[in-house]
Amino acid sequence: MKSTKANDLLPLLKTHFGYDNFKPNQLAVIEDVMAKKDVLAIMPTGGGKSLCYQLTALALEGTAIVISPLIALMKDQVDVLKANGIPAAYYNSSQTQETQETIFKQLKEGVLKLFYIAPESLGFIKDVLETIAVSIFAVDEAHCISSWGHDFRPAYTQLGNLKERFPSVPIIALTATADKTTQEDIVGQLNIHQAEQHLASFNRPNLFLEVKPAQDRIHHILEFLEERHNESGIIYCLSRKSTETIAAKLIAAGYKAQAYHAGMSADERNKAQEAFITDETPIVVATIAFGMGIDKSNVRWVIHYNLPKNIEGYYQEIGRGGRDGLPAHALLFYSFGDVAQLRRFISSSENAEVEYAKLERMQQFAEALSCRRIALLNYFGERVTQGCGNCDICKQPPAYFDATVLAQKICSAVARLREREPMGTVIDVLRGAQNAQVLEKGYQNIKTYGAVKDISWQDLQQYVIQLLNQGILHINFKEGARLGLTPLAKEVLYDKKEVQLATLQKVAEKPKREAKSRATRTGLFEKLRVLRHEIATAEGVPAYVIFGDASLKDMELKLPKNETEFMQISGVGQAKLEKYATPFLKEIAAFSPSKKTKVATHLKSLNLFKEGLSISEIAEQRGISENTVYGHLVKANAEGRSIDLHQFLTGEELDSLADAKEDLEDDAGLKAFFEYFEEKMPYWKIKIGLYLLDD
Ligand code: ADP
Ligand code: ZN
Repeated sequence: MKSTKANDLLPLLKTHFGYDNFKPNQLAVIEDVMAKKDVLAIMPTGGGKSLCYQLTALALEGTAIVISPLIALMKDQVDVLKANGIPAAYYNSSQTQETQETIFKQLKEGVLKLFYIAPESLGFIKDVLETIAVSIFAVDEAHCISSWGHDFRPAYTQLGNLKERFPSVPIIALTATADKTTQEDIVGQLNIHQAEQHLASFNRPNLFLEVKPAQDRIHHILEFLEERHNESGIIYCLSRKSTETIAAKLIAAGYKAQAYHAGMSADERNKAQEAFITDETPIVVATIAFGMGIDKSNVRWVIHYNLPKNIEGYYQEIGRGGRDGLPAHALLFYSFGDVAQLRRFISSSENAEVEYAKLERMQQFAEALSCRRIALLNYFGERVTQGCGNCDICKQPPAYFDATVLAQKICSAVARLREREPMGTVIDVLRGAQNAQVLEKGYQNIKTYGAVKDISWQDLQQYVIQLLNQGILHINFKEGARLGLTPLAKEVLYDKKEVQLATLQKVAEKPKREAKSRATRTGLFEKLRVLRHEIATAEGVPAYVIFGDASLKDMELKLPKNETEFMQISGVGQAKLEKYATPFLKEIAAFSPSKKTKVATHLKSLNLFKEGLSISEIAEQRGISENTVYGHLVKANAEGRSIDLHQFLTGEELDSLADAKEDLEDDAGLKAFFEYFEEKMPYWKIKIGLYLLDD
């Protein structure tokens, strides 16, 4: 088989998608599929998974069958493909019979390059598949096939017989879930044991990673937002109710925010999503239902109000930040209450053991005392040992202190409470709290009551968490989350085992925030966004189907003046060139460079001079006197712009001006010089000369 090389695929990439280069691993994946190999492609969110099978579908004969778990996702992708002039359709049970029939007909006739379907519906097209040319099977969000994965979807398991039924059709499985067990499970369940595995790096170096204790979250969020007005971000919460209360608080504080959760109607959700994408409402407070398949490049921060239940989910969610490659901030609030609640949810799950294990890894990440990125990437199987420099820990590494006595006091309290109380009560007792819970049980009488009054409740909690992490204490989740002692605790209590704890950090250093890009300053981007919104509304599609933010930014940067230049914009392929070049070029032209930034008048003269125009030409073109033009150049020079004023008068002239200066009074004006030279030296020359002499 002829091997496909980048050279053959690049023109397809540009024509259909408007991109000039592949993202990491895309080409390798596509080449393997084109060589009829099965492939497991693991790429982080935003890594460009869909393009892998979409471009392959275009390069091959026949129809690609894409199995995708979410109707919304299918619809968006099909919208985007159609906008790029690629024949594609999706099938789902909510479509009218008429629509379904039309789509089936297209499928049978082989006019579609891509056909999207949910695994549950695959049975409906079973027979058709036998009769048509299927180019590839693409299994999107392939981790759904694994009960070890975090979104197990039983219908996916039917995909196991695809390989058997269509042995010659390559299967490409794609996911952003990269833990080893899930990977192996996907390959096994799909029966693609020979699959080539492509693991793209999961590192997203532009995401700043930070974890904070969950006390006073709203206060912290408001503080966080204070210097981020107008920036777009997502706050993820566990419950519908908290999305609403938090959104209300942000609105009350003057932010444009909205809640988003599965309890809202589809219409409400679409509206919310649209308002988010267009930045009309830049902040969304959402349950995890939000964000799948959203291609919004300028999300500048992602906050987890609650602890996610596993690292995959966390990473996928923070991955929605900073897709444009500019710095973005991921802030996670960590609370033990969340851990307890998540454990309660999990306890009713069939897959509880796996889920507990995953939650534990999530906790370890939140409690990490060394580089968080190292922890993340190692979770995804990337061996990294070098600190990243862009997480809270790297910015402010913890210092340790001898906490042997403190640890003894804590362990002793746990022992004296007979390992029957949860963390909160233990802390209360240690701090000598006077609340009913403590007093009613008579805990004021035990020996360690009030033994650590000097440490705040929150800080003490952090130290207890550290003791948990060091395996000195443990939590008995099955029995009311009671705090218990491990054998190590006994060593602390009876063998004087030394304990080191990390000093708590009060204020983490703020990550460096880059100056706003030119794009956000000039205002053309805003105008293009409005235009995009208008077109999207008219066509009834989401804005990003027309163009992504990255394309608009590229337009702002390159200011294309004609179709050839427009074609150079990232994201502009043939179809979009034909459809949208005219309105966008018009908008860009209307935003001429002189309007773009108000250039000061003296700099306009300087620019023309630098373009090679003579002084008289500049004066004529600008409708001002030559004297004024010279004045402009002097001013520009005074501001430190590079222009050599010596070119305008000879050394002799300068000498004679110096003489005149000696002869005339100190405060002599230009007119005195003019008369001194018997009106033979023009005013402008006098002005420049004196300026140079003063210099
Ligand atoms: P994933 O599904 O992996 O999260 P997507 O397929 O949604 O990622 O792609 C993320 C974004 O990157 C999309 O806007 C997509 O159009 C864009 N993209 C994909 N491939 C390329 C490429 N080769 N060059 C530039 N942008 C790309
Ligand atoms: Zn780090």
